[in-house]
Amino acid sequence: MGKIMRVNMSDLKANIEEIPKEHQGLGGRGLTSGIISREVPPLTDPLGTENKLIFSPGILAATAVPNNSRLSVGAKSPLTNTIKEANSGGAAAQKLARLGLQGIIIEGRAKELTSLKIDKNGVTFIPAASYKEFGNYGVIERLKKEFGNNIAIISIGPAGEWRLKAASVIVTTPDFYPRVAARGGLGAVMGSKNLKAIVIDDTNSDQVEIKDRAKFRDQSTALSKGILSHPLIGIFKELGTACLVMMMNAYGCLATKNYSLGQFQGAEKISGEHMTELMKRRPNGQHMHRCMDGCIINCSNIFTDENGKVIVSGLEYETIGLVGSNCMIDDIDIVAQINRVCNDIGIDTMDVGGAIAVAMEAGLLPWGDGKTALTLIKEIVKRSDKGLMVGNGCKFTGERLGVKRIPHVKGQCLAAYDPRSLKGTGVTYATSTMGADHTCGNAIPNPANPAYNPSAPTGQGPVSQFLQSYFAAIDSVGICLFASLPLLDIPELQKNLIACVSAKLGTPLDENYLTNLGSSVLKEERRFNDAVGFTRIDDRLPRFFLEEKLLPSGNVFDVPEEEIDGVAQNILR
Ligand code: SF4
Repeated sequence: MGKIMRVNMSDLKANIEEIPKEHQGLGGRGLTSGIISREVPPLTDPLGTENKLIFSPGILAATAVPNNSRLSVGAKSPLTNTIKEANSGGAAAQKLARLGLQGIIIEGRAKELTSLKIDKNGVTFIPAASYKEFGNYGVIERLKKEFGNNIAIISIGPAGEWRLKAASVIVTTPDFYPRVAARGGLGAVMGSKNLKAIVIDDTNSDQVEIKDRAKFRDQSTALSKGILSHPLIGIFKELGTACLVMMMNAYGCLATKNYSLGQFQGAEKISGEHMTELMKRRPNGQHMHRCMDGCIINCSNIFTDENGKVIVSGLEYETIGLVGSNCMIDDIDIVAQINRVCNDIGIDTMDVGGAIAVAMEAGLLPWGDGKTALTLIKEIVKRSDKGLMVGNGCKFTGERLGVKRIPHVKGQCLAAYDPRSLKGTGVTYATSTMGADHTCGNAIPNPANPAYNPSAPTGQGPVSQFLQSYFAAIDSVGICLFASLPLLDIPELQKNLIACVSAKLGTPLDENYLTNLGSSVLKEERRFNDAVGFTRIDDRLPRFFLEEKLLPSGNVFDVPEEEIDGVAQNILR
């Protein structure tokens, strides 16, 4: 395994450390959460100098395992006050792994805005005052000019510098489009360190160490073939994650009009089908694009305007749902423009989409008015009252405007799946260690498992708990969520993945490896949150989901409290 680079921004010093015994064999979320829970005082101010910002490639980063190089970013969150991990595609994880780094720990706070350059020779501290309040697109262009093309960039926009609660962290793809570790305000933590960007250059670096290369090759080849054989993968290839718009609309759980409806009349206009047709027709558009080398699915896209000018890459389901249907905006070009502005400012499209919807509910702007929504988001850059309100996310905006129906758990806006019809996902929103986070365990309908009823009131706790544990393990291994879905239906592929980890580490691992890894990560995160002061009362959805019927199904969220509480009890057992 690689080593850890510990960077103290207060005195601009860094050193390389061995990974402590208790974190050996960990990567991604397992390592970020392990370090936070042992090194960050639970009651500390998330934007204070005691909080630490951790970056970690997954265990299998920069190997031949497909879709394997997510970068986990972790800290105590200023949005949720919980432990937090958000992960992103892009090129940074592979480059860090090739440089022999399994983690970077950022501590303290620099006196002035500073960037880091990490390469084979170590780290260089670079004054970044001339980048002050630069948007991410400008940062990427300038750093590319200065350091060439063999780099990956991790950066924040002005939202991070201003420590807004919904600020995100950007990670560049191999072709320098921004991907985003969006959730939980981790960009604000990076801003609180006065850290503008990290440039990673892996020139002349070595291949990552794999203890048993022959076994690794056989198992990763079998894994790739198996993933590609799953019927879902063809749909993600053709339509991207936006395929979920029509699926969720058909199921009656597409977040619509601030979670008051489960279906959106304008769904087709913002669907994956429509986007793919546009990108096939428009100059320079790509309906298939990969966010990292080694991806065999290509669920991302390059969304262009009619003249072929790139607006954004990639335009994803969660942005389309929160900014589109949930605000009743049926113009995909406007949704793409909002996505671009959010990426540039460095802000989470999901929490900001949720903020716009509650602002619409409060009457601040009309439902479906995409142009005014875009103008409101641009107000963030002007630091006007309204702009700063929206930039602090959905909960902040809803409370400021006196809205009763605020769709959040522990301060974080829900994803674009209504929990009244996807009740397992609802349990995940309520009980995840990170606020309402669908990536922690999204229980969507699955044709391969027709026996599972997502809208049944009981049986959802165990489903959510299993998925939370599975995805905590997947986030630690570093494989992307979409490549991990076939493994849920084809158990043989889980064995292939475990064998790859075993061959990489040179350690025998049994068939319970993923379950045990996921459970131990969740336990560590839960203990941290308990020490912050969270209790079972915090593991609840907003009351309107329990009381208001979702149309057209008439569903309410009626999973019994004992079943919800059982998730935490079982995790801590
Ligand atoms: S499937 Fe999508 S998210 Fe996963 S690595 Fe490929 S482009 Fe990135």
